[in-house]
Amino acid sequence: MSQNQPENHTIDLAVSARWIVPVVPRGRVLEFCSLLINDDCIVGICPQAEIGKRYHAQQHLQLADSVLLPGLINAHGHAPMTLLRGYADDLPLESWLNNYIWPTEQRWVSPEFVADGSELAIAEMLQSGTTCFSDMYFFPESTAEVCHKAGMRAQLNFPVFEFANAWADSADDCIHKGLSLRDELRSNPLLSFAFGPHAPYTVSDATFRKIATYLAELQMPMHIHLHETAQEVADSIKEHGERPIERLAKLDLLGPLTQCVHFTQVTSQDIELLQTWQSSVIHCPHSNLKLASGFTPVQKLLNANVRVALGTDGAASNNSLNMFSEMKTAALLAKTLAERADACPAESALEMATIKGAEALGLEALIGSLEPGKQADFIAVDMSHADMQPVYDVVSQLVYGAAASRVSHVWIAGRPLLENNRLLSLDAQALKQKAQLWQQKITQR
Ligand SMILES: [Zn+2]
Repeated sequence: MSQNQPENHTIDLAVSARWIVPVVPRGRVLEFCSLLINDDCIVGICPQAEIGKRYHAQQHLQLADSVLLPGLINAHGHAPMTLLRGYADDLPLESWLNNYIWPTEQRWVSPEFVADGSELAIAEMLQSGTTCFSDMYFFPESTAEVCHKAGMRAQLNFPVFEFANAWADSADDCIHKGLSLRDELRSNPLLSFAFGPHAPYTVSDATFRKIATYLAELQMPMHIHLHETAQEVADSIKEHGERPIERLAKLDLLGPLTQCVHFTQVTSQDIELLQTWQSSVIHCPHSNLKLASGFTPVQKLLNANVRVALGTDGAASNNSLNMFSEMKTAALLAKTLAERADACPAESALEMATIKGAEALGLEALIGSLEPGKQADFIAVDMSHADMQPVYDVVSQLVYGAAASRVSHVWIAGRPLLENNRLLSLDAQALKQKAQLWQQKITQR
């Protein structure tokens, strides 16, 4: 089972656990094995009985009641919006955006807001087993800084809007600032960058054409809210004579690294376009349910071999960044829509939160599964509690029964960031105070 063993068999870390779910190959559950880590990489998995004979581990951690699995990948969100968690609930998307979120952002969004909100988000994500997130927000340089400080992995999608905002005064300015940031931080192994045109209705054809030129030249991903609501599709047909995805196809914006967020409105022609271009759908079930945006037909997409990853969206429309509950809801919703209890099984939901997310972001060579040669991004979930017992099927239990708080340990690139539920790179108490200060400022106005 183990491969790529260092010649002297000395490794930095071995973590022995009751179960290991590597995700790839699909369906495999290893029992009484150890995950072997050297530097930032996974070097192998071996039976616990053999570890002492074959390896000298500098540190050997025994997690007798736990399952190890790849860190979860939150493929869509707006991290700083954690500061607006619960600020404007129970409103339809248009009014929520136009009357609450956008005016508040206009008033308050700043590098400090983004840094504090990102930090709060990263703390919550680490505590709930997320090791990589894909984010679209203003001042991505502030989010990048916090990721660096926290040791968090991220794809930062610099936003592109036609209208002026706190971060940039035009679409060209957004592109210029985004690309400069990418150039500056390209050597950071935990960060990757993507174009984040906000949505078809906030970006013009002229700007989309510029983005298409850059995408072809730089081979970068594009991350966009697409077909979020029926209204968006109807407006596009009225204004452009075509559905938003058809417009993107004509503008040469679809490809394997195109990440279509939401996609609740789906025709067979839409599916054909996704298949032709191998573009991904990022499904955000809680956000869609909360904003009554519509339902993404997950099983239909899976049947068509369309890649589906999972995201939480921002905490203002969720209200948490908990990928365990997102997996559960995705599976349940898919079953309800397909009218079949065997639709979107637990295994598929876990793949959407791990390897499919990695593929959607173009990071599958690095993350998304526990395989030798990949980055040591992994988590431990404690299965010893009453709510997790007994364990007939560990993957089912993770998807349908696990509270995110059962995540006890998190490593990213071999670095421990959560240990026995305690954050190691962030100060949870200071974060709570910062969040409360922002709440006071925002509500006093
Ligand atoms: Zn979003």
